[in-house]
This record gives sequence, structure tokens and C-alpha cells, in this order.
Amino acid sequence: MSSDCIFCKIIAGEMPAKKIRENEHVLVVEDIAPKAPIHYLVIPKMHIENMCKLEEEHREATWEILKMGRDLCREIPGADNFSFISNNGAKAGQSVFHMHWHFVAGRNLFEH
Ligand code: 5GP
Ligand code: ZN
Repeated sequence: MSSDCIFCKIIAGEMPAKKIRENEHVLVVEDIAPKAPIHYLVIPKMHIENMCKLEEEHREATWEILKMGRDLCREIPGADNFSFISNNGAKAGQSVFHMHWHFVAGRNLFEH
């Protein structure tokens, strides 16, 4: 738990969010500013700044993140074609410094 982190506050129930899925390791919420018909954030409950800070001790949480992406793809109607994106570092577009993946479906973000 990092006291000034909005995702830690959402995980702790101190800030509202639309929860899609939750288990021991991972929380999925709707993005507050969706860029596609389906735009969720897959967030490990452990505060890890970004992928550059991943260590061996995060092995289980990392697998749980991928598994959650798989479950969303299987279970959410219209989400069987999706992007799973993580921005790492401010210059790559990271604005919340608690590692997370964008689960995006219903629109191809890379099609112009
Ligand atoms: P990043 O820019 O770090 O890759 O992604 C952060 C994402 O978090 C953005 O898409 C932004 O819309 C979303 N976001 C920022 N603040 C909140 C919030 O308070 N609640 C929710 N649900 N999403 C948020
Ligand atoms: Zn955090």
C-alpha cells in the first residue's frame, strides 16, 4: 500500500470504482476515461511501480494478471478480440505509477 497511490486507494476501498472482477491477487475496474467500448484496468493488489520493478517474488501475481486477461477474454461478451497493454514510465504514457494492464476490446486502438 502506497498512501498517495489512487490504485492502492481503490484496492483498499477508499475510492470508488466500477469493479469487474476481483480475487486475492488482482482487481479489475472500468477505466474512468474509456478509450473503447470495453476498457478495463487489470491491477495487481501489490503496489509495484511498473514492470521495471518486477522481481522474482512477484511471479505469482504476474501469472494472475495474465490469467485474468484470459478469463476476461473468455467471459466478457464481445471481448474475445482484445489488446492487453501496459505503459511503463511517464514518457511511454504511464500516468498512474502502480503497475497495470489496459484490457481493451470492441475497438482496434492500432487501426487508424
Ligand atoms: P496509464 O496512463 O498509467 O497507462 O493508465 C492509467 C489509467 O487510469 C488511465 O487510462 C486513466 O483513465 C485511468 N484512471 C486514472 N484515474 C482513475 C480513477 O480514479 N479510477 C479509474 N477507474 N481509472 C482511473
Ligand atoms: Zn499503488
